[in-house]
Amino acid sequence: MSNIETTYKKDIAACLDTDANRIFLYWKGRVALYALLKTMGVGKDDEVILPAFTCVVVANAIIYLGAKPIYVDIDLQTYNARFENIKKAVTPKTKVIICQNTFGLSSDIDKITTFAKEQNIFTIEDCTHGFGGYYNQKPNGTYCDAAFYSTQWNKPFSTGTGGVALVNNDNLPEILQIVNQELINPSLKQKISLKFLYFVREKLLNEHTYWLLVKLYRFLSRHNLVLGSSSGEEINSIEMPPNYFMKLSDIQIKKGIKNLRSLPETLVARKENAHIYTEYLMNRNKNYVPFSLFENHSFLKYPLLVKNKEEVFRVAEKHQIALGEWFCSPIHPVQKDFELWKLDTVLYPNADYASKHIVNLPTEIKDMNKVLNFLDKIEQNVL
Ligand SMILES: *Cc1c(COP(=O)(O)O)cnc(C)c1O
Repeated sequence: MSNIETTYKKDIAACLDTDANRIFLYWKGRVALYALLKTMGVGKDDEVILPAFTCVVVANAIIYLGAKPIYVDIDLQTYNARFENIKKAVTPKTKVIICQNTFGLSSDIDKITTFAKEQNIFTIEDCTHGFGGYYNQKPNGTYCDAAFYSTQWNKPFSTGTGGVALVNNDNLPEILQIVNQELINPSLKQKISLKFLYFVREKLLNEHTYWLLVKLYRFLSRHNLVLGSSSGEEINSIEMPPNYFMKLSDIQIKKGIKNLRSLPETLVARKENAHIYTEYLMNRNKNYVPFSLFENHSFLKYPLLVKNKEEVFRVAEKHQIALGEWFCSPIHPVQKDFELWKLDTVLYPNADYASKHIVNLPTEIKDMNKVLNFLDKIEQNVL
């Protein structure tokens, strides 16, 4: 193991209040999930429970192993699946329950893990939004048998693309080591394009260039000249892409070590800003995330339900507010052929409603007045 890999694992472990030998590194978060599912023995005809408000890559990892994704509708306050509904979805074929801390919020984790243990079902926490946050008194990711984190651009801290697995169940690390023997190294081309992306992000992207670059990006995407965070095949098909099961490179590890250092400061800012949003929305009788839900949450984004999403995005662009669009579909960003992923959106009315009405307010923001001014402008549109 390289020196920097050991350092990175130790740094991550320190944040999560765990041991470095429980930390495993991957090219992306989805790859970490795939490795964990495989380690738990998920295979043909097994069922894996997940929220019907997630990224398609989560369902893909299940499907790539021959297993069946079983979706559970979400609660419109926490944007997570409720314990009672998860319980109803369990069958003798259920092998794993995936709990997600959507936008950094978790719910019912203790009830779910207690129940799952009794039933001999594994639990995995999707902590791709929640690195650094807490559920009750313990760090996100430490309640379930295992957890995975993402260090993609838009996640709590970034390595460009990147994934981390945390294994809490003592029976699993040894099996995971064997699964990991199949990991392949990123190619030179992949490393070079990562370095190029770092350059663009760090040297060219700033408050002044953001909207110009957004326009450029849209133009290039329309002409198929850029790769998004998910390759086309992951959104259009359920075939596992070639070179999927990949390691994290040293280039990413170096970024991770550096970027993890500024995370505590960012987390404080995110929470303070979430507080400001809640107060603002509560005073105007709009939908908000109650204080009781986020004492120690990481608040990657602040969810807001609006009547007309397109209109709100239009006004946001005019005011130069970088709104997020998670999740624009129960399996973001898929918009059609849901049956490929065994999803009948009619069965999940809350997730369907949320994906049609949700926008995400940025929480890592210096000038909150600018965002509040924007909220004033769209007040009639906020639910
Ligand atoms: C981003 C995300 C993932 C996947 O993370 P990657 O590192 O991009 O593979 C999984 N689940 C959720 C909820 C996400 O938002």
